[in-house]
Formats: sequence, C-alpha cells, structure tokens
Amino acid sequence: MIYADNAATTRLDTDAFEAMRPFLLEEYANASQPYSFSRNVKMALRDARSTIASCIGALAEEIYFTSGGTESDNWAIKGLMRPGDMRLMITSQIEHHAVLNVCLSIERLGIPVRRLPVNQEGIVESEAFQTSISDQTKLVSVMLANNEIGTVEPISALAEIAHQHGALFHTDAVQAVGHIPVDVKALGVDLLSASGHKFNGPKGVGFLYIKKGTEIQPYANGGGQESGIRAGTENIASIVAMACALRKNCDRMITVSERLSRMEHIFIHTLNQAGIDYIRNGADNHIPGNINISIRDANGESLLHRLDLKGICISTGSACDSVNTKVSHVIQAIGIPKEYAQGTIRISFGADNIETDASEVATALIEILRK
Ligand code: PLP
Repeated sequence: MIYADNAATTRLDTDAFEAMRPFLLEEYANASQPYSFSRNVKMALRDARSTIASCIGALAEEIYFTSGGTESDNWAIKGLMRPGDMRLMITSQIEHHAVLNVCLSIERLGIPVRRLPVNQEGIVESEAFQTSISDQTKLVSVMLANNEIGTVEPISALAEIAHQHGALFHTDAVQAVGHIPVDVKALGVDLLSASGHKFNGPKGVGFLYIKKGTEIQPYANGGGQESGIRAGTENIASIVAMACALRKNCDRMITVSERLSRMEHIFIHTLNQAGIDYIRNGADNHIPGNINISIRDANGESLLHRLDLKGICISTGSACDSVNTKVSHVIQAIGIPKEYAQGTIRISFGADNIETDASEVATALIEILRK
C-alpha cells in the first residue's frame, strides 16, 4: 500500500508510541492528585507543555491541551464571540469546516460574520482584508495553511492589520504545525489551533495557544485543569506522545521537506511527460508534499476508488452524496473551471513516504486516466 493522504491523518510515530506506553500501563495516576505516585505524571505534563511551547515560540502557560483541531477552533471562536456582543468576526471562504460551521452557529446567535474571498492561489489578499475590517471587528480567523490545496496564508501581514483595528487574530494551524516553521511571535497571532494526529502524534489530542492576557471564556467548566478554563482529567499518554512527535517533526523538518519537494517534482514531471491536461491548485508557498490537481474531464471520486484498487490512498477535492459530486468550497473559491473542478484530487505525501512513491502514484494515475 502507498499511503498518500497525510493531510487527512498521519501514522503515529514509533517513538511517540513508546513515549505513551508507560502512561497507559504504569504511570496511570491522575495528575491532580497530591500523592507521590502522581509526581511523574505531573512532570510529564509540565515537560510536554514546555516542549510544545518551545516548538512554536510560546510560553508554556500559553499552551492549553484539547481533544484536537476541531475543539481548538471551536474554543477560539466561541470563547471570544459571545452572544450579545454584536461586533464582527472575519474569516475566509476556504477555512476548514471546524471554523466555517462554528461561524454558522454564531451567526444563528445574531453575531455577524464576514467571509473573505481568496485569489486563484487561495491566498487571502491584504487589500481585500483592509476594506472589510473596521474598529467594530472583534476577531479575525484565517488558517495558516489550507487542508485541501496547502496554500500558506500571509498571516503576519493579516494579523498586523487586525491589530491596527483592535481585533484579535486566531489561526487554524492544524496543517502547518510540525510541517513548516511556526512561531507565534513572528506570526503575531493571539490564538493558534493545532492537532496531534496531523504531525505523527495520536488522534484525539491537540492544543490551543492562547497568548497570555487574552480574555477568553472557558471551553469546559469542571475541575481546575488547564488553568481552570478547559476542565477534565488530562489525556496524559496522548499529550506526552504529541509533544514527542512534534519535537521530532520540528527537528527533521528541513530534511523531510526537501525530500517532499523532490517528490512533488517527480510526480508533476511524470504527469507532464504523459501529457495529462490538469491544473495544479494552490500557491508556490504551500505545505511540503501537498499536490492538489484538477484533471480535465475526470471524476475525482472515481479516481480515488480506482487508485484504491491499486492500493493507493489519496483524497478528493469534493464531497460526494448519493446523487451529486459536489465540488468543494475551496475549489469553488479559487475559481477552477467546471470541466476541471470535478476531477480534483489531493495527494499528500508525508514523512513516511519514500521517493519512489511519487513516481508509482503518478504512473498508476496515468494508467487509470488512459483507460
Ligand atoms: N482544521 C484543519 C485545517 C484541518 O485540516 C482539520 C482536520 O482535517 C481540522 C481543523 C480538524 O482537526 P481534528 O481532526 O484534530 O479535529
């Protein structure tokens, strides 16, 4: 099998798995208890928080553990946009549904939300943002990297504009953390969401960076965990493994991303040599290993299934129901012509892929298209 869907999820790193083991079997104490059996667990929690903070240029006390990217996005937005406060929220048209659907829910409470368009590369342009923002804007949420086309957004420029208008800035960095350098200070963001399973950590664990001093409502009330604003007994084993995976991914980032760039080149070159008529989606500045293409007169859903029969896992740029294949909101937002849009697929190579995977996936795809 060739797994080329790393934007959907990644394999748990073996060292991360080993790091979780003692906290499942031996060191199972509750971190909140005062006895000495809890000491190692408390220390592991503290170390994991510091490790994660150091990977993104934050302070340890600015890292709040959550159940993943969806929860982090929900908390960032719902914790700031409260019913009764009619100030505006601005987001983009190409966010993940963990942001877009939260926006729909706050709109139902009467909170206004504006969705910024993007250019053909999927970039939120500062000029469009400048004309939409005012001093009545409370929160801006724009993703750091898009999950379909991999485009990396100009977050530091957008955050600067937001701050000039007194707005807070949240970024969904779920696709970026562990794959490209992320530094919350350089980005200038107030909140940042991340998810363990996107960078070879476990599923069901993530974190939200909340800049010190940011006033946010608790996500879950209960015990005093996570400074009393995200209560619930900590998922120690997963938190420890997430920290281990993130440290490892940050340390090998340059080597892995160089390999992934070579793989992108091999894939694209193989497709070009075969004369395939396609559009490559996204920007030059994108998540390493992300290849999103729209193939003329093809059907992404059917390509996915045919590749599956050959033991290759990829993803489409569409959501299929029993009647229609609906082109994704991202592919619509970047204006891909109809005759190409239905044939959109996403290949996302990751740290576990080897260079020959690129030519094998491309060759399999060409064979299917020729049939
Ligand atoms: N945000 C982005 C950009 C994503 O790609 C995803 C997952 O696909 C999420 C949020 C949701 O993360 P999780 O699966 O950890 O809830």
